[in-house]
Amino acid sequence: MSLKELKTDPIFAGERVSVSAGYSLPRLCIDAARRSLSGIEGLNGIPGTFGGALWMNAGAYGQEIGTVVETVRVARGGCVIEIPGSEVSWNYRHTSFREGELLLGATLLLQKAIRKRLPRGWKQPRANGWRRNRMARARPAASLRMLRPAQSVPAK
Ligand SMILES: Cc1cc2nc3c(=O)[nH]c(=O)nc-3n(C[C@H](O)[C@H](O)[C@H](O)COP(=O)(O)OP(=O)(O)OC[C@H]3O[C@@H](n4cnc5c(N)ncnc54)[C@H](O)[C@@H]3O)c2cc1C
Repeated sequence: MSLKELKTDPIFAGERVSVSAGYSLPRLCIDAARRSLSGIEGLNGIPGTFGGALWMNAGAYGQEIGTVVETVRVARGGCVIEIPGSEVSWNYRHTSFREGELLLGATLLLQKAIRKRLPRGWKQPRANGWRRNRMARARPAASLRMLRPAQSVPAK
């Protein structure tokens, strides 16, 4: 197997996306948001690869990558196997993957999101300097904030 395969572009099919381990996690979040798919928009500020995020069950803003993993492709014991996400223990910044295993990629099941339209004539409220800085630090990008899942997802 060529390691170049670990960096191929994600393949979207409806609400599913197949992602290789070497792909950038922030880029994946943007790709999904552009397709109005919700489930990982909170993770867009986490640097690193998709494989690194899978390995440690990266999470932010109440979302964790493990909750949207349908299957994972793993090189284990000299074989490439596909295991259901439900067979992995997704704990806080820790998973049941073992040392020596190479994560090749995963298929995520996301949710179609509803894009909320702003009311006609709506204007961005002016923020003073302190609030502007605080908002910039504490919140994801405005384009990602506009995404809301079609079905409500229990908060973690
Ligand atoms: C500024 C900053 C903010 C951050 N914020 C958050 C946050 O909000 N939430 C959060 O969860 N994390 C956060 N992190 C941590 C960050 O998400 C992790 O460092 C990142 O997910 C690791 O991915 P990586 O590609 O850099 O992996 P690496 O650092 O290269 O590897 C990390 C570990 O994963 C293993 N690994 C990586 N890829 C694979 C693979 N394909 N197969 C098997 N093992 C693999 C490596 O062996 C290593 O043990 C933050 C980090 C920084 C620097």
